[in-house]
Amino acid sequence: MTTDITVYWDDQMLDHEPPKGAFKFPFTPIVAVPEVHPDRRERVQNIRAMLDHAFGDIFETVSPDPASRKAIERVHDPDYLDWLVEFCADGGGRIEDTTTGLNEHTYDAARVSAGAAIAAAGQALDGSKDDGQEALPYALCRPSGHHAQPDCADGFCYLNNVALAAEAALATDGPADITADRVAIIDWDVHHGNGTQETFYDRDDVLFVSAHNDHGSWHPEYHPQEGSIEEFGEGDGEGYTLNVPLPPGTGNRGYEAFFERIVNPAITGFDPDLILVSAGQDAGPSDMNGRNIVTREGFRKMGDRVQQLADETADGALALIQEGGYQPSHLSFATLGVFEGVLGRTVDLDGYGTGDPFEFLDEPTELVDEWLDQAVDHHGKSPVFA
Ligand SMILES: [Zn+2]
Repeated sequence: MTTDITVYWDDQMLDHEPPKGAFKFPFTPIVAVPEVHPDRRERVQNIRAMLDHAFGDIFETVSPDPASRKAIERVHDPDYLDWLVEFCADGGGRIEDTTTGLNEHTYDAARVSAGAAIAAAGQALDGSKDDGQEALPYALCRPSGHHAQPDCADGFCYLNNVALAAEAALATDGPADITADRVAIIDWDVHHGNGTQETFYDRDDVLFVSAHNDHGSWHPEYHPQEGSIEEFGEGDGEGYTLNVPLPPGTGNRGYEAFFERIVNPAITGFDPDLILVSAGQDAGPSDMNGRNIVTREGFRKMGDRVQQLADETADGALALIQEGGYQPSHLSFATLGVFEGVLGRTVDLDGYGTGDPFEFLDEPTELVDEWLDQAVDHHGKSPVFA
C-alpha cells in the first residue's frame, strides 16, 4: 500500500464544544429549541467518513503531540494564553456578546489542533517517502485557527493553527530538519483570515493571500480587521498581505480567476519554501456562514492549483490545514474535491458519481470580474509582482 495522505487527527479534537444558542449567536426566547453551534462535531466526523470511504486504501492517521507552550508563544501573547487556560478551567462559556464559545476541553483540543498543523508543516518540509511517493500532510484541525489573533480568540478560533505552523517552519528549532526562509499561506476559507493577517502584517517572510466574502469587521474589539484590499501589510510587510474580497455568489469560475490572476503570479513571485493552505470549505453552496457557491469541481481545481504551485515553487512542500465549512454534508463533498485535485485522482461515488448534489445556482460573473479587477489593480504594487 502507498500512503498518499497523512491525516493528523486525534479524537480529543471532538471534546471541544461551543455553547448552543440561536444559530451561532446567544440564545433568545424567540427560539423554542436552542440550536447546536455551527462548529459542531459532525463537521470533522463527516470529513473522516469521506476519507475512509474515498481514500481508505491510501491514507494513514497520525495522532499529533499537542503544541507546546513554547511553540504557541511564537504567535500568542502569554497573558492571553493564561486567560484562555483559566477560562476553560472555570468551565468555559460564551465570550461576551460574540459567536465564540468554549467548554472545559477547548484549550486542550486547541493545543492538539495546533500540534496537528505544526506536524503537517514539518512533514511537508522534510518530505515523507513511502514507496517513492510523497504523502500529502493534512491537519484535520478542530477547532479552526485563522481568526485567532496573537492576543484574542475570535470567530470559532482560539489558537491560530496555520500561523503556528508557519512560525514552526521558520524556526531553527522547529519540528522539521529543514528550516524555511519563506512561507506562503493561501486562505480560501470564505471568511477573512484576520488572525493570520494580524500575525504577519509587518513581515516579508510570510506571504498571506486570502479570498473571502466582504464581511468586514464583525466586532470592534475581537475582529477589527476589514479584509479589504487596502489592508496590504505595513513596514517590511507592505505588499505581503493580499486580500481579495469576492462578491456574494462567487463560484467555481471566480475562484479559478482568483488563482489565475492573483494567487499564481503572487506565489511564483514570492518563491516560498513551503505552501500552507487555510483550507476552509465554507465557500460551498448552502453554507450558512458563507454566501458563495463553489462546488466539488471548483474545490478540485483549487486543489490541483495548489499542488502545481507547490511543485513549481516549493519542491512540492504543501500542507493542508482545515479551517471552516459548516454545511455538514457539503463539507465532505467539498473536501473530497480538494483531495481529488491535489492527488489528481477523481473518485466515482455510488449514487453521486463525480458530481456535487449542491450544484444549483449561477454565478454573477460580471460583478466577480469587477471586484477582481480592483484587487489586481491594487495588488500590482506588491513587491511579489515586481
Ligand atoms: Zn470560515
